[in-house]
Amino acid sequence: MNKRKIEDALTRLDKAFQSEDSVKAESSKRTKKPKIPAELEERLRWFTMTHNLQSRRSKSTDLLKKKEQSDLFSFHNFILRLQSFSLRTYTSKPIELSPPAVALRGWQHDEAHRNRILCSRCKVGFIVDLSGSQANSYQKLIDTYVEAIESKHTSHCPWKYQQCASSTYRIHELSLPPNLAANVIAERARKIDSNLNFSIRVKHPLSNEQVQSLFNAMPEPKPSEDATILAIYGWEYKSTISSSSYLLTSELDVANVSVKPEKVFDVVREHRFYAPQLMPANEGSKNTGVEALLALITRRGRKKEIQESMIVNSVSVGSNTATVSLLI
Ligand SMILES: [Zn+2]
Repeated sequence: MNKRKIEDALTRLDKAFQSEDSVKAESSKRTKKPKIPAELEERLRWFTMTHNLQSRRSKSTDLLKKKEQSDLFSFHNFILRLQSFSLRTYTSKPIELSPPAVALRGWQHDEAHRNRILCSRCKVGFIVDLSGSQANSYQKLIDTYVEAIESKHTSHCPWKYQQCASSTYRIHELSLPPNLAANVIAERARKIDSNLNFSIRVKHPLSNEQVQSLFNAMPEPKPSEDATILAIYGWEYKSTISSSSYLLTSELDVANVSVKPEKVFDVVREHRFYAPQLMPANEGSKNTGVEALLALITRRGRKKEIQESMIVNSVSVGSNTATVSLLI
C-alpha cells in the first residue's frame, strides 16, 4: 500500500514538472518569436529561400560545366565536328590540316564559307587556303596554318590549352586484345551479311594468304569472306529509310557509300584519304591501320604457325636447337 502511494505521488510530481516545463517552453517560444515583425520575417524567409535556390543552382551549374568540359574533348563531339567537313568545300589539304587534324584541336568546318574553319566555343574562325602558294613556300605556309590551329583560339578557350587525345582518331580495335578485336570485326561483317540480300563485289589489295589468315581468325559462326574484308577496312552496314538502297559507312572518316549488286566496291578508294585504316598505324610506323589490325588479330594464328614449323624443324633437324631458337 505504501509503495503504491509513493508511486502515485511520484507520478503526480512528474506530471507537475512536465506541465511546468511545457508551460515554460511555450512561454519562451511566445516571448522570443513575436519580436521579429511579420514583414521582416517574410523577407528573411524569402532571402533564405532565394539563397538556397541560388547555391543549389550554382552547384548544378558547376556540375554542368564539368560535364560540358569532359564532353568537349569526347569522341562523340569529335565525330560531330568531323561530320561538318565536306571535301568539296574544304579542299586540297595536306594531312596536317586534314579534317581530323583540325577537328582534334576543336575546329569544325564553316559550311557557309569555303575552306573556313571555326571554333564554336570561342567563336573564332579563319580560312585555311593553300591554293595560291608557290611550291617553295608551300611547306612554310602549312607550318603557319598548323601553328594557327593551336594559337588562334582565344585565351579563354579550353582548346587553346588542350586538345583531344591523339588516340581519339585511331582504329578502336587496335586497342583491344586480339580475340576481342576479331569479335568486333566478325560482328560488323555478320551485320553486313544479314542485312544485304546480295553479295558485294569487293575490290581490295590483300593477298590470298592475308585473306585466308584473316578468315581463319574469324570466330564462329564465320561471316562471308567479302563481308570480312569490308569489315576489317572499317566498313559497316548503315540502315536507311529506303528499303531499296543500301549504305555502307565508315565512322572514322565519315564516308557513306551506297552499294548495289552490279557495282564493285573498292574498300580503299571509297575511304577519304585521311582514314586511319589507310594511314600509318602509329607515328613512324610502316604498317597502315588495316595491316596493323590484320597483324593483331592473326597473331594467335602466326604463333600457331611458328609453333608448328618449330615442331617440323625440330623433327627434321633432330637435336639442332639453333634452328629452333632462330625461329623463336
Ligand atoms: Zn576556341
